[in-house]
Amino acid sequence: MHPFALSRVDDAAAAIAAHARDPELAFIAGGTDLIGLMKDRAALPTRLLDINGLPGMARIETLADGGLRIGALARMSDVAADTEVRRRFPVIAEALLFAASGQLRNMASMGGNIMQRTRCAYFRDDDDPPCNKRRPGSGCSALHGFNRNHAIFGWSDACVATNPSDLAVALAALDATVVVRGPAGERAIPFGEFHRLPGDTPERDNTLDRGDLIIAIEVPARMEGRGSHYLKLRDRQSYEFALVSAAAAVTVDGRRIRTARLAMGGVAHKPWRLTAAEAALRGASLDDITALKLAIATSFTDARPLADNAFKVELAQRVARSALVTAGARA
Ligand SMILES: Cc1cc2nc3c(=O)[nH]c(=O)nc-3n(C[C@H](O)[C@H](O)[C@H](O)COP(=O)(O)OP(=O)(O)OC[C@H]3O[C@@H](n4cnc5c(N)ncnc54)[C@H](O)[C@@H]3O)c2cc1C
Ligand code: SF4
Repeated sequence: MHPFALSRVDDAAAAIAAHARDPELAFIAGGTDLIGLMKDRAALPTRLLDINGLPGMARIETLADGGLRIGALARMSDVAADTEVRRRFPVIAEALLFAASGQLRNMASMGGNIMQRTRCAYFRDDDDPPCNKRRPGSGCSALHGFNRNHAIFGWSDACVATNPSDLAVALAALDATVVVRGPAGERAIPFGEFHRLPGDTPERDNTLDRGDLIIAIEVPARMEGRGSHYLKLRDRQSYEFALVSAAAAVTVDGRRIRTARLAMGGVAHKPWRLTAAEAALRGASLDDITALKLAIATSFTDARPLADNAFKVELAQRVARSALVTAGARA
């Protein structure tokens, strides 16, 4: 194990200043991803700053406008069990409950979840094969290697990895925002702009800079929240990352879709919104499977599968359709 020093902080400004000035320092919350990365030598910080003592960051609150503010240190299990989350945003509760295991969810924080790094096996391999995300400029072992679990959208020759967070898919569908405090003050990042596509710099997963601390995640009050569902397909029924997943949220007039929100996991370097399908689904009947199929297909014309994952193109469309129909039944 890589040696490190651990200290604790109980003041956000001090945490931000320490992170901004020290490139060898990493925040640690539940430690369920970071410690694994350190064991695999995919992250080698020499100083860990335990942020669990920061005040007020584990709360789940209803905002004046009806939205929800979830502190970055709230534990996945607490958020999944929260009655407001379950009632108004079942897609969030389900995305959390389908993730990891009970023990992990008790430790893992919301901020840490959306910050977790890819599960690409080459990236996590402590034998250190070529991997641009782990060692920029070394190449991508997955591009022409075993890439069954990798991206079908938005990848580059530099990296074909997918983002593993289930929660992030639900938050992308609901257009949540990430509240970040940094050396220059606080800002709200729209969820769709939080994670990055790999381009030429796959070592950067998101748009945060040094000194940035995630304070909270805000979910706007949305009618679609109640009619929502998260569907996750994986190689085994529990304790496994998504092969493909979909978050769907809809409003309906009778059995007709008034508005639809759809995001997918397991298909790209970031949660992937199906915006063309969302537009095409307006007015479609939830009982007209052919219409749903055709509408969802409009978001797959630019799918670019790799050698081992062409099956994801059809599978993802089925998962999106099925999630949509279940969400519609709840709306
Ligand atoms: C065996 C296993 C199975 C799993 N299965 C799933 C799954 O199916 N689905 C899924 O979504 N996840 C899964 N996970 C991932 C798990 O959900 C994450 O490890 C967890 O959510 C990370 O939260 P944490 O608080 O432990 O983060 P940490 O490990 O403490 O931190 C992770 C990263 O986030 C940074 N960070 C933490 N908090 C903040 C903050 N407030 N501001 C800025 N940066 C911050 C840290 O510096 C670090 O870089 C699994 C993990 C394991 C080990
Ligand atoms: S897909 Fe990305 S994370 Fe995986 S080996 Fe290639 S560069 Fe590394």
